[in-house]
Amino acid sequence: MLNIQSKLPGVSTTIFTVMSKLAAEHQAINLSQGFPDYACDPKLIELVNKAMVDGYNQYAPMPGSMVLKETIAAKVEHLYQIKYNPDTEITITAGGTQAIFTALAAIINPGDEVIIFEPAYDSYAPTIKLLGGLVKTYELAPPAYGIDWDMVKKLFTANTRMIILNSPQNPTGSILSESDMEALIKLISGTDILILSDEVYEHLIYDGQKHQSVMLYPELKKRSFVVASFGKLLHATGWKLGYCLAPERLTKEFRKVHQFNVFSVNSAMQQAIADYLKTPEHYLGIAGFFQQKRDYFRKLLSESRFELLPCKGSYFQCVSYGHISDEKDVDFSMRLIKEFGVATIPVSAFYQKGTDHKIIRFCFAKEDQTLALAAEKLKNI
Ligand code: PMP
Ligand code: GLN
Repeated sequence: MLNIQSKLPGVSTTIFTVMSKLAAEHQAINLSQGFPDYACDPKLIELVNKAMVDGYNQYAPMPGSMVLKETIAAKVEHLYQIKYNPDTEITITAGGTQAIFTALAAIINPGDEVIIFEPAYDSYAPTIKLLGGLVKTYELAPPAYGIDWDMVKKLFTANTRMIILNSPQNPTGSILSESDMEALIKLISGTDILILSDEVYEHLIYDGQKHQSVMLYPELKKRSFVVASFGKLLHATGWKLGYCLAPERLTKEFRKVHQFNVFSVNSAMQQAIADYLKTPEHYLGIAGFFQQKRDYFRKLLSESRFELLPCKGSYFQCVSYGHISDEKDVDFSMRLIKEFGVATIPVSAFYQKGTDHKIIRFCFAKEDQTLALAAEKLKNI
């Protein structure tokens, strides 16, 4: 027997994989893992095909194809009036997850502490631990999942190296406000603490709210890696393409890792996405599109016994069921799949300690028909 020392002994297969597999096995409606069940724009597929026919089939440049980086710079400037240099401050990645991994690997040394807000996207904590870093957790509480910044300050030590933000947030659908950003600036001014800002849901923000990107605040921008995902923007999560924006000094460090953990990413798709995004109408309506789905799904669920939590952004709706059952959220989710035919994600999976507030997460990036069918089943509970 080989003696193999696991680097992540407490980690098993991700909840998204587990739930999607179970959904398929039980032929349940899959509102668990976050991905659309409708097709992306056929025009986009045509453009990928065209790029392949045009010969974009070999390695793209290591930091990404220039035409896509320029298109991203133009999009960011159009949306936020902020400039990033495509040559030195934008890197195209294999989705948001690789960008997160790469930014952490570029910065975190053994013993460095990283503050995260839980419930959190599941890749943050294991990645930090893999690098020898220490996870300092701030647990957010339902229903608002707000941040008390004085409490965050208490987590600071001489070893605090980074803070990970995620707004709009997965899984809670909460967002950071202007006053959150101001409080954060007060906390970190004069320190060397860096920020990893996971903004993959930047366009999925509702009710006329403005996305509070770190790039809008010079004190934050200068110390931030901003992560985005084309999976969300283009309704094509399987393409696994995204990007990282960061000031030149941070980008330099980022690319030192990027060139060895992926080197470069799909060249034909980069070309096609650049072509596609030249038309801002292709992404500007996305908040309205998802807001309609959120409202439709909330209306359907209001006829069920579930209690709806606020959803200000992302494509996730959380509900609480504590008044219906005292089962653990994992057990309740299993029963939902097996007995009622709907797959969800138990929110305890987003807490390292498995904190269970009896809340489950639904993904509403689905055809209206799928949502209606799921709601019919959920009304039986
Ligand atoms: N961050 C968050 C908060 C996410 O929900 C996801 C997954 N959708 C990602 C990062 C990863 O994005 P990608 O699929 O592009 O790797
Ligand atoms: N971000 C998606 C979610 O939260 C899933 C990503 C994944 O499967 N790793 O459902």
